[in-house]
Amino acid sequence: GAKDLQEIVRLCKTRGFVFASNDIHGGFANSFDFGPLGVLLKRNIEQSWWRRFVTEQDACYGLDSSVMLPPVVWEKSGHLQNFSDPLVDCRNCGKRYRADHLCEAEGNDETNRQAMREVLSNGKCPCGKLQPWGEEVSKVRDFNLMFETLVGPVVEDGAAAFFRPETAQGTYLNFGNYTKTAQPRLPLGIAQVGKAFRNEVTPGQFLFRTREFEQMELQWFCRDEEAEQWFDHWLAEGLSWLHGTIGVRPESVRLCEHDASQLAHYARRTTDIEFKYPFGWGELWGFANRGTYDLSCHGVEYREPGGGKSFVPTVIEPALGLNRLVLAVLCDAFREETVITPGGDGAPDKEEKRTVLGFEPSIAPYALAVMPLVKNNAEQRGMSEQLVRDLRAASPHLSIVLETSSGSIGKRYRRYDEIGTPYCVTVDYDAPSTGQVTVRDRDSMAQVRIAASDLMSMNLTGLQR
Ligand code: ATP
Repeated sequence: GAKDLQEIVRLCKTRGFVFASNDIHGGFANSFDFGPLGVLLKRNIEQSWWRRFVTEQDACYGLDSSVMLPPVVWEKSGHLQNFSDPLVDCRNCGKRYRADHLCEAEGNDETNRQAMREVLSNGKCPCGKLQPWGEEVSKVRDFNLMFETLVGPVVEDGAAAFFRPETAQGTYLNFGNYTKTAQPRLPLGIAQVGKAFRNEVTPGQFLFRTREFEQMELQWFCRDEEAEQWFDHWLAEGLSWLHGTIGVRPESVRLCEHDASQLAHYARRTTDIEFKYPFGWGELWGFANRGTYDLSCHGVEYREPGGGKSFVPTVIEPALGLNRLVLAVLCDAFREETVITPGGDGAPDKEEKRTVLGFEPSIAPYALAVMPLVKNNAEQRGMSEQLVRDLRAASPHLSIVLETSSGSIGKRYRRYDEIGTPYCVTVDYDAPSTGQVTVRDRDSMAQVRIAASDLMSMNLTGLQR
């Protein structure tokens, strides 16, 4: 895994995963754009989530609800009153903290969690000086995190609306539509992937905390007596997908069970899957038993088909940040290795560094890179192009790239290691006559010669499914 976040930021920028937003006009702090490889990685992860939590589930359905919603929604949901962060400024060093995230602002390790508690209880800032409340450290103020806007052509007449800070509310509003059209019985799941917006007090750590981000959320509506069992079920599903399908290493995550003092006011139980980012452990995926709070807020009830009595279902919510998961996957997959190549003919062995993004093949931006050994060799080039066309036709869900840059084959392999391409296929001098190509494996660096026609029937379906 990556030891240093800056390494990841650099690689993302130079190789085309993630760019700083509005780079050419001086930037826009804490905003990022996904580039050619970033969109592929993000999309593969998103599609995999959708497959696992919607397509392969009998009782889960997708939804794409409005991003902007009127104040009444946020009044009912409690966001206008409660969706705020406690804000603390240090007047000595000028630092501003989201009080309950001071740990992150300062590195997120245990020492800094301690520092956070100190700031909150004694009014001390980690800048070193002992500061009593009200003097050098300002009082805790509440700051609502929602972005507000006006809808309508004339500003004065504009009706207020808020950008959603989570996809969940749009799901609760639609619950009745789903019991009418999708499935009348509980348990029922509604899943949504989409943007959410929060005017974060302390954005930062690259993709970890931004003001605009994407969530992949499932709201699972069930009977209260079954809620605990479903909670465990979805937590287990989440871990299984994360490790088994996305390939996040077990040692990179841990569970954090919230105690009573950490629970949101509506939550009955919350367990976070935390990831070990280069800056410390941080939340990746929150699992909450939200009780009957949300549907009650909106005055929504459920009646069993066949005239049972009506009641308010309980909600189990696995809420995952897509951008945060992209960051976690990048950090987890990153490794630097020393490769020793035997010198041959009595020459000394060569030591070389290589950087690898060891993505699970199913989420790698490019599944395959096909390259002529010599770029100007017409025969090799033609065969490579044909191979790419055939492979694309055989596996339309895969991103396959034709690599035609010059440079030694070793250098080209390194470049594809660095962007996490699991296989490179090289078309060399013998290929056009023998029909054989070389397949090189990213992780073992082993090379095998196989018939190009066998590539088509190779188990590529395991990739990016
Ligand atoms: P945090 O404590 O880190 O602010 P949260 O508990 O407020 O997170 P939730 O409301 O549970 O977060 O949101 C669900 C998920 O959305 C989080 O687990 C995280 O992956 C993601 N998320 C939340 N806020 C952001 C953000 N500002 N930037 C990127 N992802 C975010």
